[in-house]
Amino acid sequence: MNRPQSVERMIEVFKKLPGVGPKMAERLCYHILKLPSHEIDRLIDSIQKARQKIRICSVCYNMTETDPCPICADSSKNREILCVVETPQDLIAVSKVKDYNGLYFILGGALSPLDGIGPNDIRIEKLIKRLKSDKINEVILATDMDSKGETTAIYLAQLIKPLGIKVSRLGYGIPVGGDIEYADEVTISRAIAGRREM
Ligand SMILES: [Zn+2]
Repeated sequence: MNRPQSVERMIEVFKKLPGVGPKMAERLCYHILKLPSHEIDRLIDSIQKARQKIRICSVCYNMTETDPCPICADSSKNREILCVVETPQDLIAVSKVKDYNGLYFILGGALSPLDGIGPNDIRIEKLIKRLKSDKINEVILATDMDSKGETTAIYLAQLIKPLGIKVSRLGYGIPVGGDIEYADEVTISRAIAGRREM
């Protein structure tokens, strides 16, 4: 017997979520459809509320309910040091490191010529603009330790160094090929402490 069309459509939507394959999509959908209706209402409401409240910080491009975001607005931060990451999840991971008290910038991805992602597809121009207008002494390139992250770091270092700003890359600790997002606090803390100048 075929599934009802409405369930089929729901599964199609869930399959588009990152990391959700056909089996997982099916399982999630059947789970949700078995929930009492007030639970389903709560689920839908939480998504809608978050969607309505969330905007993008105009300084660091993090997701936030206020602009600038609490990190950019925090006057106790060291405003001379900027950590450049690929995604909002990476920012969350680095922000758990207590030894790092600087600011952030989210690129929104990494350079990947094979996927057709070039310098104009991520926020490189906006980063350079910020570096020229803010008094930043050091940029820590905390892009992922995979080939895209490395390519991006090398490209950025070439653009930033001529501005007279110190550029460093995370040191050892993050596994080669590793995503900053999944590294633990101690590992990121060591990688920042052991950063090497590019
Ligand atoms: Zn911000």
